[in-house]
Amino acid sequence: SNNLMAGKRGLIMGLANDKSIAWGIAKACADAGAEMAFSYMGDAFKKRVEPLAEKLGVETLIDCDVSDPDSIDKAFAEIEAKWGKIDFLVHAIGFSDKNELRGRYVETSKDNFLMTMDISVYSFTAVMQRAEKLMKEGGSALTLTYYGAEQVMPHYNVMGVAKAALEASVMYLAEDLGKDGIRVNAISAGPIKTLAASGIGDFRYILKWNELNSPLRRNVTIDDVGNSALYLLSDLGSGVTGENLHVDAGYHVVGMKAVDAPDI
Ligand code: NAD
Repeated sequence: SNNLMAGKRGLIMGLANDKSIAWGIAKACADAGAEMAFSYMGDAFKKRVEPLAEKLGVETLIDCDVSDPDSIDKAFAEIEAKWGKIDFLVHAIGFSDKNELRGRYVETSKDNFLMTMDISVYSFTAVMQRAEKLMKEGGSALTLTYYGAEQVMPHYNVMGVAKAALEASVMYLAEDLGKDGIRVNAISAGPIKTLAASGIGDFRYILKWNELNSPLRRNVTIDDVGNSALYLLSDLGSGVTGENLHVDAGYHVVGMKAVDAPDI
């Protein structure tokens, strides 16, 4: 353990279970002495999030559906009433209809396109509108993205388009909020088997492909992501904003990916 986050308070959004990337980040922050609140979506997740909160000594659990502006307002009002200010925020939220995370992107429906953009892109801007007011002494915010924003990945489809917009919004938020000492960054994580990932077609194949073709010849874990998140959320990242840090075992630098995953 270390003291990198001692005295810092923050909100972690997007915890579903102990496979969640948000859980890897929360563990790293707790280990570094942070005080946290968790938000989760609806009662179905509450039961799974409660024991996780208990493990890290987190007392504040907030129900927040980011597709509902009133729900976001309520969540931030609760945080404000409890702490008055925050130092960091993690947005580890994304959603799309899994029927459109397979097959051809060109067939994406308008309804699912808008819903995916709302929950996976706009929600980060929406929470930063509220978080800005609570980051009174500056702060650090982090969202999660994927390489499918930069290059075509099989089945990622509308989610790739959404992540491209999310990455662009990180740059615009970094500019708007930088004057107030608020840093805004993204981590582009390699594929990890989580609840959200299970909706993506052929995900096991993608995992194997990444393992065989990345420079480190392995997949990343939620702890790998947690460690890098700690750098961006703590003062170690004090000079970094608008960045998209790839935590993907180096996969994004390889131009000629050649090793197929034959028998899975
Ligand atoms: P996860 O299923 O554990 O987390 C996704 C979270 O989004 C869940 O907690 C879910 O409750 C929440 N969510 C969905 N709709 C919501 C809404 N309307 N309001 C509030 N919360 C809502 O999966 P994960 O893989 O840990 O996903 C976290 C983030 O990481 C996502 O943005 C995902 O796109 C991104 N990411 C994942 C991978 C991967 O391979 N797993 C790779 C790169 C980026």
